[in-house]
Amino acid sequence: MGIIEKMRLDGKAIYVTGGASGIGKSVATALAEAGADVAIVDVNIEGAKKAAQEIAQATGSKTIAVQCDVTKKDEVEAMVAKVVDTYGKLDACFNNAGICLNVPAEEMTFEQWKKVIDINLTGVFLCATAAGRVMLKQGYGSIINTASMSGHIVNVPQPQCAYNASKAGVIMLTKSLAVEWAKTGVRVNCISPGYIGTDLTLNSEALKPLIAKWNDMAPMGRLGKPEELQSIVVYLAGDTSSFTTGSDIVVDGAFTCF
Ligand code: NAD
Repeated sequence: MGIIEKMRLDGKAIYVTGGASGIGKSVATALAEAGADVAIVDVNIEGAKKAAQEIAQATGSKTIAVQCDVTKKDEVEAMVAKVVDTYGKLDACFNNAGICLNVPAEEMTFEQWKKVIDINLTGVFLCATAAGRVMLKQGYGSIINTASMSGHIVNVPQPQCAYNASKAGVIMLTKSLAVEWAKTGVRVNCISPGYIGTDLTLNSEALKPLIAKWNDMAPMGRLGKPEELQSIVVYLAGDTSSFTTGSDIVVDGAFTCF
């Protein structure tokens, strides 16, 4: 079998959080194109249903849509149980739901700090450990988390201390789980995207005025596209990445290189 055939995901069951839009929807589409059955998980159930329907129509994937707020432990556990009930197993997951808030640190309320940390970091912990418990029993599985280049550098000029701290936390959580589970067949990796054109960046009133500046700062002179993250997650979800665990794959057009 050639390498491209080996990278296919036929018959694999995978869930994607934040799957209703942006990076999550784009990656879910690619996972389905590679042969996986994909559960679209989002707090926005209408968006999740729409994405699941579009992906099923385009690829033939047996998709489902599941409503879940990743900050709620009981909802996360019910979501994982529903995915396993539907497909009989869980081969991989993409814990990707996240938000960004741009508030100067001295003005940030405790509620604002907690909201970002709860969704971006605690949400990944709840999903990764709920999925991990299933995968540890199975003896296999691939967990992929979304961090950010903001876990490596402080982006300027927008102030986003909670976001940066949450994403640095996702990177170290990923490495910690990878080491704890290294001998079990369960792998844990994360991706650290640079600026990507999605709702989070293009449709935020606070961020819109900064796009021209980011383009100036970017070595490639542009934002990335969600499709430019697809193949990395397909790789991490599949069997050809069997020796890749504890990795944080930066996909940022060299933004963090200097
Ligand atoms: P997006 O806003 O297009 O998508 C985020 C999705 O997460 C939405 O569908 C939203 O409904 C969902 N969501 C939000 N809170 C949730 C919750 N509590 N429970 C379940 N779902 C929830 O944003 P995006 O740009 O596609 O971002 C996806 C991930 O990529 C985020 O973790 C983000 O931090 C990260 N990221 C984005 C960029 C970028 O430039 N766009 C760069 C680096 C990292």
